[in-house]
Amino acid sequence: MRANPVLVELWRFQGHRCAYCGRMMPDPRAAIGPADPTLKPTIDHVTPLSAGGRDVDGNRVAACIGCNVLKGPLDVQTFIRLRWNKMLLNDAKNRIRLSQESAAANARGDGRPARTADARR
Ligand SMILES: [Zn+2]
Repeated sequence: MRANPVLVELWRFQGHRCAYCGRMMPDPRAAIGPADPTLKPTIDHVTPLSAGGRDVDGNRVAACIGCNVLKGPLDVQTFIRLRWNKMLLNDAKNRIRLSQESAAANARGDGRPARTADARR
């Protein structure tokens, strides 16, 4: 696969992290896609082209496709608020689930959670 050189440059400049959620994105030149398909690196326009943003340096960032799709035409402040609320909510749900599983395991007396915890966020 031939990667867009602008994307490769942005990805390097950002230390391989998505501009919005901060997750590590794999090398855009990799032949095989990421295990988590939402981590696929893309170019996003901070001010969307549909809102009059231009396709120039300074309006382009490397963002995971998960963020890119969610952001759509939203302005960046609204989007980041929504994105982080969603991530914090998912983290909280995970912690609640883990503590419930651990309580259930303690109640059974085997000391093991019912299922293997996943570190997904
Ligand atoms: Zn992201």
